[in-house]
Amino acid sequence: MRSRDQNPERVARLRGLKAGAAKGGGMTDATITDVQTTQVDGEFSWTFLRIYTDAGLAGTGECYWGPGVEDVVDLLGEWLEGEDPRDVDRLCREMFERTQHLGSLAGATVSAISGLDIALYDLAGKVTGQPAHRLLGGKYRDEARVYVDCHAGVHQDEAKAGEASEDDYAPEAYADAAEAAVSEGYDALKFDLDADRRYEGDGHNRHLDGQAIDYKRRVVEAIDERVGYDANVAYDCHWSYDRDSAVRLASAIEPYDVWWLEDVVPPENLHVQRELTRATDTTICTGENLYRSHGVRQLIDEQAVDVLQPDMPKFGGMRETVKVAGMADDYYIPVALHNVSSPLGTMAGAHVAAAVPNYLAIEYHGRNDPEWSEFTEEPVIEDGAIPVPDEPGLGVTLDLDAVESRIADGETLLDPA
Ligand code: MG
Repeated sequence: MRSRDQNPERVARLRGLKAGAAKGGGMTDATITDVQTTQVDGEFSWTFLRIYTDAGLAGTGECYWGPGVEDVVDLLGEWLEGEDPRDVDRLCREMFERTQHLGSLAGATVSAISGLDIALYDLAGKVTGQPAHRLLGGKYRDEARVYVDCHAGVHQDEAKAGEASEDDYAPEAYADAAEAAVSEGYDALKFDLDADRRYEGDGHNRHLDGQAIDYKRRVVEAIDERVGYDANVAYDCHWSYDRDSAVRLASAIEPYDVWWLEDVVPPENLHVQRELTRATDTTICTGENLYRSHGVRQLIDEQAVDVLQPDMPKFGGMRETVKVAGMADDYYIPVALHNVSSPLGTMAGAHVAAAVPNYLAIEYHGRNDPEWSEFTEEPVIEDGAIPVPDEPGLGVTLDLDAVESRIADGETLLDPA
């Protein structure tokens, strides 16, 4: 079906109206003319997109990859043509409304809109001469704290490549890895507490026996003894365990300095999440597989979580994440940002981090990829934190040479901005 904005007469009329409306506002008139996407085989699969205007300005975004994401971006990109990129809030709301039939409550559709939202904030910032954090309400802080993903005593990439041994999952190997990360300047770390399943039965019943619980307790103990005074350390369980096992695990690590225990039970059942959070003094965190404000509204309202952890380029974008941080703040719940993005998506997260009061830290998952930092022309992480730029938009530029070097099969490079 032909979208209404493919009508050339309407596009021309809109451009004329919007150019007139912007006069005297001290801004550059700009009308969206095109949206392009491409995909990179980065540390994860990264989907980049760019929104172009008739003013020669462009905004670049990134979304969490998934099948169908680029198709949704293409569909909504056609609708965005002719629009004024400064109307970010209305455009994002309308994109969710226009794709309800495609599943704009969760999944690939929401991820696609998240990337378009990021590109719109980059573009609107350039059009208005403002940094993205100012369009979101302004800064609470000048830099965004980073926590670094460490996996286990061996990095996840080596583990996936079959290069890990049992020794890499010994508690002292975890402690060695923690010490190495701290020596690189990081004071916030995360380890996977479900990396070694050798004590965990058949892998389907989600049960942890006493031996499995004690192994995880010893991992936490070893890390706490080694870096407890130097770093905050969080632990991830990737939705693996049953309610009773989760409560026993959380209780077993209460004596140690645990920043948070993440995704212990599967994400579907809010009541179990709430009972776990109430049953232990260990700080309980979840949110990376949830979407939009409506996906976390009850979680917040029932105080079923101690730390809320949306994945911004997947969850609904910068606008939706700021909105949800405000909802969480009404219940005095802090927000951490799950993140497996390139430096561009990570910087978009840093602007959100700057603009909300209840921010804790954003994840850095690319420490083991020596090329991670090459995907933006400017450095992003410096001394374990992200200085938040005051340049217009996101304040970073996607490096197209890096994109081209790892572009996915069949993909086309974005046109320059
Ligand atoms: Mg996680």
